[in-house]
This record gives sequence, C-alpha cells and structure tokens, in this order.
Amino acid sequence: MSKINEHRPKFSENRALQIAKEYFAVIGDIKPLPSERDLNYLLKAPNKESFVLKIAASSENKENLLFQNSVMNYLKNKINCPEVLLSKEKEPITVIKDKNGIEHFIRLLTYIPGQMWGDIKTPSIDLYYDLGRFIAKLTHSLEEFFHPSAKRDFHWDLKNSPSVIGKFLEYQQDKNKITIINYFLNQYNTQVVPNLSKLKKSVIHNDANDYNLVVNQSQLGLDKIGIIDFGDLVYSYTIFELAIAIAYAILGKEDLLYLASIIVKGYNTVIPLREDELDILFILICMRLTLSVAISGYQKNLEPNNKYLTISEQLAWETLFNFRKINPNYASYVFKHACGISPIKNETTPSKLTKLEILKKREKLIGKNLSISYKEPLKIVKGFMQYLYDEEGKTYLDMRNNVPHVGHSHPKIVWALQKQAAILNTNTRYLQEELVNYAERLCSTLPDKFQVCYFVNSGSEANELALRLARTHTNRKDIVAMEGAYHGNTGELINISHYKFSGKGGKGAPQYVHTIKIPDIYRGAYQVSDPEAGKKYAEDVKNVIRGKQVAAFIFESIMGSTGQIIYPKDYLHRVFKSIHENGGVCIADEVQVGFGRVGKHFWAFELYNIIPDIITLGKPIGNGHPIGAVVTTRELAESFNNGMEFFSTTGGNTVSCVVGMAVLDIIEAEKLQENALKVGNYIIEELEQIKEKYSIIGDVRGSGLFLGVDLIKDVKTLEPAEKEAEKIVEKMKNHGILIGNDKNVLKIKPPICITLGNAKFFVKKFEDVLVKISSEWS
Ligand code: PMP
Repeated sequence: MSKINEHRPKFSENRALQIAKEYFAVIGDIKPLPSERDLNYLLKAPNKESFVLKIAASSENKENLLFQNSVMNYLKNKINCPEVLLSKEKEPITVIKDKNGIEHFIRLLTYIPGQMWGDIKTPSIDLYYDLGRFIAKLTHSLEEFFHPSAKRDFHWDLKNSPSVIGKFLEYQQDKNKITIINYFLNQYNTQVVPNLSKLKKSVIHNDANDYNLVVNQSQLGLDKIGIIDFGDLVYSYTIFELAIAIAYAILGKEDLLYLASIIVKGYNTVIPLREDELDILFILICMRLTLSVAISGYQKNLEPNNKYLTISEQLAWETLFNFRKINPNYASYVFKHACGISPIKNETTPSKLTKLEILKKREKLIGKNLSISYKEPLKIVKGFMQYLYDEEGKTYLDMRNNVPHVGHSHPKIVWALQKQAAILNTNTRYLQEELVNYAERLCSTLPDKFQVCYFVNSGSEANELALRLARTHTNRKDIVAMEGAYHGNTGELINISHYKFSGKGGKGAPQYVHTIKIPDIYRGAYQVSDPEAGKKYAEDVKNVIRGKQVAAFIFESIMGSTGQIIYPKDYLHRVFKSIHENGGVCIADEVQVGFGRVGKHFWAFELYNIIPDIITLGKPIGNGHPIGAVVTTRELAESFNNGMEFFSTTGGNTVSCVVGMAVLDIIEAEKLQENALKVGNYIIEELEQIKEKYSIIGDVRGSGLFLGVDLIKDVKTLEPAEKEAEKIVEKMKNHGILIGNDKNVLKIKPPICITLGNAKFFVKKFEDVLVKISSEWS
C-alpha cells in the first residue's frame, strides 16, 4: 500500500474552474471538499445546481473508475447517490494532464446536498432506524449487480483483515491497544472465519462511513439519506456492508449496542437477517474498526504530519475499548431480539440444578411464606425486553411484570449499569453529580411543587419514609388508607395495609389507622351509572376522619391490589379537600403505576386533576435495580429536617442514579408512554369486544398498560370467578403468555415496550383460552 497522498493530484481552484468550463460547460463558485486519495471540488452554478468535480490520483486505474461509474449508473433511481455526468464530448471520463505532464482522470458528478452523518451531533433514533433500512435498500439494489473489476484483492475488504492487521501490528506501540487488536483478531479468527463460507456474497459499497453518508432532513422517507464515494467497491460478503455502516454510525456514542440494534432492526425490515449473520455481526463491526486503527497506525508512521489520517482514529479506539467490555454473545442476542428471533435458541447453558432440586432447596433454605407462581413453577433463565425464556428455551411474553418497565435487561440499562459499576458506586455523603442530575430530572417530570427528593432502595422504604415525613410535618400519627390496599412489607406498612392486616396472619388495624371504602364503581355501593358516585364515596371519607387528627392519606392512583380499580374522576379531588381541611397531607403511592404506564400521563395521579403532597416511587424506577424514592415539597422537606440525619447507605448510590436516569432516557427516546397508550387502548378495545361474547367477563378497566379484567360467575350477583381466573392464568402460560391475577381479577401490566403485535397475539390467545374454558364448563 502506498502513501495516501503520494499520487494526490495538484490542481489549483482556478485550474479546476477552467477544467469545469472547458470540458463540462459548468461555471460557478468553487470550494475544495475533503478526500482521502482524489482531489474533489464542489461547484455551485449560478442556477444553484451543484456538482462535484473529481480529479483522480495519477495512480488510479481507469477500469476502477468505469466500475464506479457503472455502479452509480445502476443505482440511479434506486437509491440516493451521485449521478455521473458526461462531458461536452459525451465522455464519462476525461483525461487531462497536470503541469508535469502526468495524466489524470476527471469526472463530474451531481452533488448530494445535506449534512454528513458524522456532523450530526445526536442523530435521532428514527434516523438510526432509517439508516438500517437505507443500507438494506442499498444491499438489495446491488444484489443482482456484477462487474469484473469487483473481484479484487483489496486491503479494505474485511475478509482480508487478519492478514492486513497482522502486517501492520508492528506499527502499534501502546500495549493496551495491541491487546485489544489481538482480542478482536482472535474473535474474528475463531468465530467468523469458520462460518464465512456459508454467507451470501455481492458487490458492496464497502465504505458507508459517517462521512460518506449524507442526511437531508428536509426529504421524506429514505430519500433523506444518500451515499457518496464509491472508491472502495468490492465483491465480498454482503453482511459486511451493514457491519461497516454500524461501525461508523455509532462511533463515539454512549449506548453503542442499543444504537446498533436500532440500525439492525431497520435493516431487518427490508432484508430479514439470518441467525448466522447475526451471530457474527458484532465481531464484524469491531473488526472494521480494528482494521481502521491498524491501517491508520501504519499510515501515521509513513506520514506523521497528515491530520486526515487521525480524524476518526481516536474515536475508533474509544469505541473499540467500549466494545471490548461487551460480551459478543450478549451482543448477538441483542441483535437477534431486534429482529424478533429468540435470543437463546441455539444457546447451550446447561442447567446446574433441576426445578425439583431448586424447589427442595427453597423449602429448606428460604422462608416458606414466599409464594411461587404457577402449578408447574417456571425456571426462568433469561429475560430480554418483553420476553422471558425458560431453561428449555421456551419463550414467554411477559404481560404481568411492571418492574422491568422498559424491558428485561434493556441494553441501555445494562450498559449504563455496567459502566458505572466499573467506575464508582458510593453513597450520598460524597458530592456526586449523578445524584443531583437525577433528582433534577425526576423533579422535571413532576408538577413544580415537587422540589425535594429522597432516595432509598424499595417501594416499601419509600412509603415508610413518606409516613415519617408526613408525621414529622403534621406532628400527628393517624393514617387514612384504602380498604384492600397494600403499601409494603415493613411493620408499619403492614399496619396500614388492609390487604395484609385483614387477611391470614393479620392482626387487624391499630387504632390510629382508618380504612376507607374502595370507591369501586363496578362492585361498590355506588356504581358507574350513578353520576354522584365520586361525591358519595368521598362523603364516606369525611365521616371516617371526623374528629380524628389525620397525619396522612395514602392511596394508589389506580389500585394494584384488589383488582386494578380506577376511581371516579372527582373522587380524589374531594378527598384531598377533606384531608387538607383536617390538617393532613396526601401521599400518592405510584410504586406500581408511575413512569408513563397509564399512557395518558406520566404519573397516574394526573388522571384525576389532583396534586398530592408526597409521591412515592419504586419498582419501575430502576427497571429491576432496587431503587425507591420519595419526592415532596420544600415545605414538607423543611419540617423533616429537624436535626435527625436521614441516611440510607445504598439509597441514591451512584449506580442507582445512573440506572434511574437511563430509565427516564429510554421512556423518552423510545416514546414508551405513547406506546403504553396506543397498545393499552388497543387491548382495552379488543377486550371490550370479547366481553360482549363471554359472560364471564364482568368488567374491563384500567388505563394504558395497567389493566384489569374482572371475572364473574353471574351477571346479576357479580359473584367473583376466582377459580376460573386461576385457570385462565395457567392456560395462558401454556400458550406462552404470562399474566397475573388477584383473586378473580386478571392483571395485565407488561413492560411498556410491548408492541401492537404482542398485543394482538395476547388478545388472540386470550380468546382461544376463553373458548376452551367455556366449552369445559358447558
Ligand atoms: N406500594 C405498592 C402499591 C406496591 O404494590 C408495593 C409492592 N407490591 C409496594 C409499595 C412495596 O414495594 P417493594 O416490594 O418494592 O418494597
């Protein structure tokens, strides 16, 4: 390989203008464009038309240029790329001599307007997705194309990377860098080389890098992306095209794997990717960057002052060091998931303990009052987004767990957690920007009144702390809570949770706890047909608190325990008024229902046009990582600051804050609240229709992806159909769908990343199960 600029043409701007006029009858303004080997000028004609004048290096082979031209001509009207214009003499390539009499080939191409991908600071998720589709379209367009010059031995062909890298390794001095190169080389030789021969081949552009992709946001659809510079065309493995595009599109970005998976997803919608391609894609991406740094190491050695050579080298190294932290197997199932392929299909993770052995050990070692779901318990060995996989590789659609809110093992969360855990995880007694940034972000999702955060490790701890805040502020003890409510597992929370203290093993409520009737407009005293139901239920609260000194009223914005009950619109507003008049504060327990799940709003309390004084958060806040939080007003926080220190050893630790922030980022970037609304509304509509056909369904309720289906034995008495609910849950599991039940109410509260396709599958299987069950009963 020669020095890059050894043969680079030397023509002044004036000379270039003359050439354009003389050979192509083009006049206008001229500006040099960056290029590795050629000399390129942008020409702007007075009529605003733009062209690129390309003067090839003297070393360039004419056959190669003809090959490039034929590809651009072939792609015309297929994808957005330059068009080759003919000279006055109707020639696609014109030969001219420089001052020294050396011949150069000249071409004039149309200019693709737009911004270079590499200059876009933060491309949107949609743009990454479109890039995947664009690359697939490019691949598809070239599938049938062939040219004899395409079969060439080229150092930028990824299939030659082991020998090229091997040759240039001696130019690397840094030991860490050599270790990284060797690691990826080894991965390539062991994981890719043995599998290459089975893969498809075609002519590929081979250099869809961040400065060869042009983005024009004013265009629609895939027309907004264009590709230039066909100098690296080669006949090689088709999948390389995608790997190269990904490698450069995500250079220097934070969440590499996640962004890569979006590109993969887009590509897969146009050309379905094969499992064997997805198995090696990650290593190919890494290998392209390895090849790039190896070549620039060599070039730098030849031309230490050439800045062009190091443009992307630093970013490539940074990205490679980050990629090194990712397990290639993990990367492959992130990609497979993006393509709707079960990530553990071919995985062989031998189970160490059988289900029976685990059961026996649990009996011996774990407190017996921990329940286990399903008659035939599940041994889940992997979770990914909305799916769970058992030890035999069977896939389950998780429609019951609202904790992995944005998806089980969401790559962005895993990445954020891994990265922070490897750097620092400490407590709130040091100054850490992660803590304050996260608190600020959390407050920004809430009404202005919420200004102070406390971080703990669970929903229970959050509620426990909320009670302390309320009691310290009011200097009172009495708590008003809902019948059937559950607020957590600590001693004091059991005392206020009717669901527990009135059930088996419960000891009833202490004197200072006052329960109020559930404003259930389906089964309660005042029903949906009564327009005054909210007012009447609120009257009940007035009666209960009369003569009492209330510290706090605590409630779930939609009741999770006792069957996903949603309140009459005006109910909470009226209750708040009574509580505030009494001198108490209102605590919204958003542990189950917060973070966009209810679809219409980010917080479930917003469904009722009320603003609580304290909100408590848990479960989805950390997507499974143990985080709890209390957010309140400055006034309440000031009262709580009474001299006694508040400290939670791991509450608000660095990793938790980073994870919490990642959850908020994902909800926003993936538009998950909107998704919860769209998919939730679809499920509600479908269930309402199913309800018309099957009398067992008494009521369908909830909001977004927090839904309940109330099953009844008799339409008149509304007798709860508890056994039937259990049966349905079991049968749904056999169909690969996990839902929950609280007595006779089926609970649907999946990760909010589920798709409309998942919802359709769920509805279909649900109806199948109802048909089956109805026939068994009749
Ligand atoms: N509040 C509500 C409404 C809950 O449903 C729960 C748990 N089911 C909690 C608080 C307690 O959360 P954790 O189990 O994370 O402590």
